[in-house]
Amino acid sequence: MQIPGHIDPVTTGTVPLRGGNRIDLVGLTRDGVRAALEEAGLDAKAAKLRAKQIWHWIYHRGVTDFDAMTDIAKAMRPWLTERFIVGRPTVVTAQVSNDGTRKWLLAAADGQEYEMVFIPDADRGTLCVSSQVGCTLNCRFCHTGTMRLVRNLAAGEIVGQVLLARDALGEWPKGTMASSADIEDEDDDAGHYTADGRMLTNIVMMGMGEPLYNFDEVKGALKIVMDGDGLALSKRRITLSTSGVVPMMARAGEEIGVNLAVSLHAVNKEVRDEIVPLNRKYGIEQLLEACAAYPGANNARRITFEYVMLKDKNDSDADARELVRLIKQYRLPAKVNLIPFNPWPGAPYECSSPERVRAFSNLIFEAGISAPIRTPRGRDIMAACGQLKSAATKPTRAELDRIAEEKQAALG
Ligand code: SAH
Ligand code: SF4
Repeated sequence: MQIPGHIDPVTTGTVPLRGGNRIDLVGLTRDGVRAALEEAGLDAKAAKLRAKQIWHWIYHRGVTDFDAMTDIAKAMRPWLTERFIVGRPTVVTAQVSNDGTRKWLLAAADGQEYEMVFIPDADRGTLCVSSQVGCTLNCRFCHTGTMRLVRNLAAGEIVGQVLLARDALGEWPKGTMASSADIEDEDDDAGHYTADGRMLTNIVMMGMGEPLYNFDEVKGALKIVMDGDGLALSKRRITLSTSGVVPMMARAGEEIGVNLAVSLHAVNKEVRDEIVPLNRKYGIEQLLEACAAYPGANNARRITFEYVMLKDKNDSDADARELVRLIKQYRLPAKVNLIPFNPWPGAPYECSSPERVRAFSNLIFEAGISAPIRTPRGRDIMAACGQLKSAATKPTRAELDRIAEEKQAALG
């Protein structure tokens, strides 16, 4: 989609279909599935009924084979198989960290690669989902930003990560299960899932890419993930993280409605311009105004400010105090997530010392704002925040600088 005010630097291109001539149903809206069936020759009434059944099989039961869709007439199943597929991304590698974090390198039908990460905790399991192959932005501390090749992921490729995680974790219901559409209180969804022993309870759009530069596909995918007759994840259990694409933030709140996380990382123009170059386009004031106006933000649903701790760059007591002042000035219902910098080969920064991070956190807590320190997860398999990058090549410093310049120029 075209972002108002600048030229979207992403070239999406045409993605070849995974099923050859067959249509992959994953990622289509409910209505899209119905329309596809109608186009293939079913009459309107039959298409509507079959679409409902197929939707339930794909997203509630995790079935990929039309032959296993037992409430669809036997004679119809080969007809479906000839015309459609229920695709999954190809798993290139799957790794498990010594802390239990799991990372998958996935390949799209065109061979482009992207990563997803699952982070198990005692009380929840979070899937970190990618929205793009690479990222056109070039935050100086982020490995993904050093990737030259970038394309948007399609809705099916985004929701496909969730389906694949469910496959890998063995989390599809085996017997019959009440449809979660029967559950009225959204907060009960969680109980519904954990009662079923599910590990995957939360989704964060914090993998590779800037989700608000791929708004339509991310929205389409999250609508499917939230659909009550399918994966049925509550919007309260989904968080979208943006580096600050201000013109798209209100729409994200209105049209998707999930929790918002904002990669703030610095409290003055000089430092944020350097580490989050998008700041040169949408400055801190504009960003915080957009946060204050974010639909749905209140004390019960606070905006998370992500703040990467970089030694001698953004980690002083004065920075912490300024962060508090800004949050108060804009009256933001906010919490701060302090992320110890995760290193990667060639990264130009170091992580602040544990004592510095603790002191920074304490100053914010003392002002009445929650500022937990995120425990790095999956560092040994390069699965931690900002370490994702699909190609194993190690660019030189000069190459990294050149890529940064190119991306900066594309930002306009
Ligand atoms: N593009 C989006 C979402 C993906 S990044 C965004 O930038 O918000 C998820 C979080 O990890 C962001 O807050 C990002 O700034 C942070 N991050 C990136 N590189 C990191 C690194 N090397 N160490 C710690 N956090 C990092
Ligand atoms: Fe892109 Fe986010 Fe990495 Fe910045 S931090 S380069 S926006 S993925």
